[in-house]
Amino acid sequence: MITAPTPRHPAWADLPDALWNDWRWQMRNRVTDAAKLGELLALTEAERRGIAGRNGQFAFAVTPYYLSLMEGPNCPVRRQGVPHEDELLETPWDMRDPLAEDAHSPVPILTHRYPDRALLYVTHNCPVYCRHCTRSRKVGDEASAPSAAMFEAAFAYLARTPAIRDVLVSGGDPLSLSDHKLAEIVRRLREIPSIDVIRLCTRNPVTLPQRITPGLVESLRPFHPLFVHTHFNHPRECTPEAGAALARLADAGFVLGNQMVLLRGINDTPEIVAALGRWLLRQRCRPYYMFQCDPVGGTTHLRVPIARGLAILDALRGQVSGLAIPQYAVDLPGGGGKVTLVPEREIRRDGDARVYRDVFGREFTYFDLPD
Ligand code: SF4
Repeated sequence: MITAPTPRHPAWADLPDALWNDWRWQMRNRVTDAAKLGELLALTEAERRGIAGRNGQFAFAVTPYYLSLMEGPNCPVRRQGVPHEDELLETPWDMRDPLAEDAHSPVPILTHRYPDRALLYVTHNCPVYCRHCTRSRKVGDEASAPSAAMFEAAFAYLARTPAIRDVLVSGGDPLSLSDHKLAEIVRRLREIPSIDVIRLCTRNPVTLPQRITPGLVESLRPFHPLFVHTHFNHPRECTPEAGAALARLADAGFVLGNQMVLLRGINDTPEIVAALGRWLLRQRCRPYYMFQCDPVGGTTHLRVPIARGLAILDALRGQVSGLAIPQYAVDLPGGGGKVTLVPEREIRRDGDARVYRDVFGREFTYFDLPD
């Protein structure tokens, strides 16, 4: 957790505040190549090989703000943002599209897997390309963008499919678009009477909190209720700037939830998950999901055994407010959707008696009613 304003990397120490706090300056000055990154960080050989070996397959970019949070090679922020040679490992369980999103795409830029929900891809761009990204196959081609015809086809599909009541606006990061473009997309969705829920899935509060401007929230405010799902993974990302971004959204009436991804060596301890959850709650952002990392190629080194995820969840119960405990979910490869996992607490059954273990390991009996 960083309590004072985030210290800038020395390379930008003398930059006027007005530029540093300008999200467009941050986007224009992202670090996107090894030479520049090597001037700013003492890269390890494994990181250099990771950057060089990508063969252009998954873009790499880091905002000056997010880079300023990075410390040594094991830093949880650095490991999420800087390629590593472990990404190049190929394993038999690697998948390109683990959630089968492309196979469930009735029109371009839209995935319809669950009857009542759809995912709309509005951009391929993100401020930072997270090394654990499930959509590494899609994001990063910044020269391409969905066409107007693709958007029209998606809006038409949503309008003629009234079973869809919940639309996730995603990408890439939708906040990579201009205020005007994003508000126009949300306005078109809001015009479809069958859509109740509109969710914006964004990592900008984490990687580019400067993007959450008064202009952005005012341009979206007319289309409430709007939900924002953000993606904090570690307390080191919990800066005053990030807190201010969440406060601006909460004050403007957005409903905030966080989707963290469980990552090996980054956040796979109960203490880290608890600290993150407590900070999020103080920002009025509910820890919503703790996702098992999807088996997308290049992420095997970041994946955590499910037994460990369950042990983390088990350890949280009784240690932090239930509000700070996310649901632990696995998105089933092949398009099966999410299943939520919970630690087993039932020890045995004896007739109508069910014996459970509490958080301290003690046994208690609940007498159930006959069915
Ligand atoms: S911001 Fe989201 S879509 Fe973009 S690289 Fe990170 S995880 Fe992937």
